Amino acid sequence: MPTRRTFLETSLAAGAALTSTKLLTRSSAPRTGMPHVSPSLQDMGTTAPTPPHPPFPVHDYHVHLSPTLTIDQALALAKDRGVQIGILEHPGPGYPINTDADLQHYIDKLRPYPVRIGLQPVYPGWSRAFSKPVLDQLDYILMDALTLPNPDGTYTAIWQIDTMVDDAEAFIERYMQFIEQILTTEPIDIFGWPTFLPVPIARHDADLWTTKRIDKIIDLCAHPKKTFRAKKIAIEINELAHVPDENFIKRAKQAGLKFTFGTDSRNQNAAHFYYCYQIAQRCGLTEGDMFVVKEK
Ligand SMILES: [Zn+2]
Repeated sequence: MPTRRTFLETSLAAGAALTSTKLLTRSSAPRTGMPHVSPSLQDMGTTAPTPPHPPFPVHDYHVHLSPTLTIDQALALAKDRGVQIGILEHPGPGYPINTDADLQHYIDKLRPYPVRIGLQPVYPGWSRAFSKPVLDQLDYILMDALTLPNPDGTYTAIWQIDTMVDDAEAFIERYMQFIEQILTTEPIDIFGWPTFLPVPIARHDADLWTTKRIDKIIDLCAHPKKTFRAKKIAIEINELAHVPDENFIKRAKQAGLKFTFGTDSRNQNAAHFYYCYQIAQRCGLTEGDMFVVKEK
């Protein structure tokens, strides 16, 4: 597992070419300097006005604590920005949570704070490492499909800038299979980073995300297995990657899916939204469209 992962953020507005690329980080390593800030922060002090806080309670359900973001710092930022937060940690090899005892410790440590407590698994089959009574104490589980299994048993982290894609069609077929696996075999509440594409093929966004593929993802989220925690899997609107786009959100809303906002932050970007507020406004999302995580 790389400890420091950098990737190019791609602007994935519907049908848009790669209009801007910005270096961002999905890293737990402390960073210095300012190149790795979200568009919202880059826009501060310029002419682009920050979209207003929506007229409903806002939650950032994708905050990672790190050496650059303690729980107290995260709570202070959230209070400042009028947002409530949910904390995520990764389980599995290379990450801090591997046993029931680890998971229990993580939950117990956060429970005194006014935050929702979540888990962001990366590898398929992750839940087998934990017992149900401990898993059931988690407020929510968010999973994305960005750690793509390879036929040889290794994984490709498709958010990394050096991700190679030889054949875009072959890639999207494999990606769709993995998305289906995540949405049908893993007990999750929120699907993170929907429709993110690796940098080399991001400009083919409109061709690769056909209506058929989009509707397949939406249908899988709308009809999870009966054994799942959630009646419907919510869609994360991801501040860092600017996904999904307006078309996807409108179709998902039509299908009765609910949404969450997530910064995927490990620093002062926690609870700071630009894309999420803008796209929510454009898609007419209301309080009733938002998924609210209940405390267990
Ligand atoms: Zn994350």
